[in-house]
Amino acid sequence: MQQQNILETPITYLKGVGPKRAALLSSELNLKTFDDLLHYFPFRHIDRSKFYKISDLNDFTVYVQIKGFISKGKEVGKGRGKRYVAKLTDDTGNIELVWFKGVSWVKDKFKNNTEYLIYGKPTLYNGKINITHPEVSELESEGNMGASLQAVYHSTEKLGSIGLGSKGFNRIIQNLILQVKDVIPETLNKDLINRYKLIPRREALINIHLPENSETLKRANIRLKYEELFFIQLHLIVERIIRTKKTPGYFFEKVGDYFNTFFSKNLPFELTGAQKRVIKEIRQDFASKHHMNRLLQGDVGSGKTLVALMSMLIAADNNYQSSLMAPTEILAQQHLRSIGNFLKGIDIRVELLTGSTPTSKRKILLEDLANGKIQILIGTHALIEDRVVFQNLGFVVIDEQHRFGVKQRAKLWKKNTHPPHILVMTATPIPRTMAMTLYGDLDYSVIDELPPGRKAIQTFHYFDSKRIALFGFMKRQIAKGRQVYVVYPLINESETLDLKDLNDGYNSITRAFKRPDYQVSIMHGQMKSADKEYEMNRFKGGETQIMVSTTVIEVGVDIPNASVMVIENAERFGLSQLHQLRGRVGRGADQSYCILMTSYKLSNEGKKRIGTMVETNDGFEIAEADLRLRGPGDLQGTQQSGILALKIADIIKDEKILKAARHDAIHLLNKDNSLSHTDNKFIRNQLQVLRKTKKNWAIIS
Ligand code: ADP
Ligand code: MG
Repeated sequence: MQQQNILETPITYLKGVGPKRAALLSSELNLKTFDDLLHYFPFRHIDRSKFYKISDLNDFTVYVQIKGFISKGKEVGKGRGKRYVAKLTDDTGNIELVWFKGVSWVKDKFKNNTEYLIYGKPTLYNGKINITHPEVSELESEGNMGASLQAVYHSTEKLGSIGLGSKGFNRIIQNLILQVKDVIPETLNKDLINRYKLIPRREALINIHLPENSETLKRANIRLKYEELFFIQLHLIVERIIRTKKTPGYFFEKVGDYFNTFFSKNLPFELTGAQKRVIKEIRQDFASKHHMNRLLQGDVGSGKTLVALMSMLIAADNNYQSSLMAPTEILAQQHLRSIGNFLKGIDIRVELLTGSTPTSKRKILLEDLANGKIQILIGTHALIEDRVVFQNLGFVVIDEQHRFGVKQRAKLWKKNTHPPHILVMTATPIPRTMAMTLYGDLDYSVIDELPPGRKAIQTFHYFDSKRIALFGFMKRQIAKGRQVYVVYPLINESETLDLKDLNDGYNSITRAFKRPDYQVSIMHGQMKSADKEYEMNRFKGGETQIMVSTTVIEVGVDIPNASVMVIENAERFGLSQLHQLRGRVGRGADQSYCILMTSYKLSNEGKKRIGTMVETNDGFEIAEADLRLRGPGDLQGTQQSGILALKIADIIKDEKILKAARHDAIHLLNKDNSLSHTDNKFIRNQLQVLRKTKKNWAIIS
């Protein structure tokens, strides 16, 4: 208890802090206690014992430390290229130091005849070496920083202005460690520590800030990464145990006539192995008396709808109603159509409810729903409205779950006395490592196999100048009886301005593809839903050969005869969206193509995105690339989660540690599910501490 108390001391009482700094540490970085500061980890360490001479600079991939004098510089360039350039000189030569930002601050900063220590990554530009935005400090002030490996901390402008730049952090953290070094508790058990030869937590926390040498620093890193990931996993798994205990599940004891008739008479093809496996997993949950909260991931076209349908039939076999919610009206209509087709000849009532269901129809529908005459209700957000009352809702499927907010999903939970079973489906592949961190408290299924006979989509990148060639290609494909999508980006569907691109594109296509030989559809989000449906049906029925549209067709649309996807301004789309769009083709037996049109002006990232798309069709690979390009914080659907704000571990680089940590957490709870064994006392304590402080750990519901 004593120990925890010291670590929970408000940061204002730390030597070198005080009320003013404490207030800013709290508002800028959310650092409130000694313990918070102890876990404010450096993002890098500088080896203070190693210096480079300017004449030795030849590796432009590493950070270097140089001692030298800085001459007064000058501002050069205009507009966005405007920068401040100064010269750094040592006894072997000179290079340029360049600042694009903070010029007014930096330009009067350097004194003559003062030796500086500068740190940064040299680059070669126009044959000259320069360092952009180097870290600069006076050599004098470096004097007694002690260890040769020095921690570097992120700070903010405001904190920097009151003496809490990186160096300031070095100082207060030194004070902190003097005070707390004897009260840092262990949090893992002997078994785990021995298994991975981890150093004690105390040693790790001291060494991450004040490394004795590079070896201890490395071990400190491993220990802290493992610990961070282990406790997240432990927490998530405990949450799941608590949830399943607390929430009873509707008991679907049997597989009956609906399922069996469908399976033996209606199913037009073999299920893939992955589909069979997932249906079995769901079936086990249904029969377990526990509540199911399952995430189903499967790449576009992997056949998730069918898995959902067959699960809904099991619900119907047990006299429970089901509901399937889709993010767009087009998709909901398509689900109704394809599910209707699948169920031909089976006596089961499936209905559609959306925002545009006419009032008279809605009235009947709601009545029949409340009376239990409807077994499966498909729809959009309209499903979650309060007036939609089921007689006995037992199972809910949410398609393209990332399109819905947590609150919307939560409303569906409340449509029966206790929550119906939940299946959330997504085709936005999340790398496995991320799924483990993010959705660790959910049951998780994956369809990792496409139905047989699909040909890999061929993807090409064309610059806009090849439009004539593109039109030629489209004509040849259409001559073979295929259909073509042409998609334009819309930044904001509500702005008519953005529709200009779409309309211009439509006009240029109708000039090149003249009636009566060709018929062209156009579709965007602002059209009335009846008009959208009309255009969609014309295209689906083969009356039109080209569908010019915005991303309204992005999710889920399934028209097997469409085999060419042209994406205009492809550089303006993110990777997962490109992948979704491409997934609209390659659904039939024909060879399909995706053509990414861009201008010549491509950012580096844009080039990488396009390159990734051309290289691979694998949704999981694309998700990994996306994660590398954008960083985990940005990925779709993860914003609302605090979980990815990892302090030290990196879910891409530390995948191995994450897997081990998850495995260990599961194993530990299997052996000692209440963590009551004396060996596990530290773990239990730490979990309690974390549960108290990290309220937003559980994310999806
Ligand atoms: P998604 O997982 O992207 O939602 P869909 O459920 O729309 O994919 O399925 C894509 C297409 O594949 C549909 O036309 C569907 O009927 C078909 N399909 C699903 N399962 C199989 C299978 N086992 N064999 C052949 N075709 C299948
Ligand atoms: Mg789908």
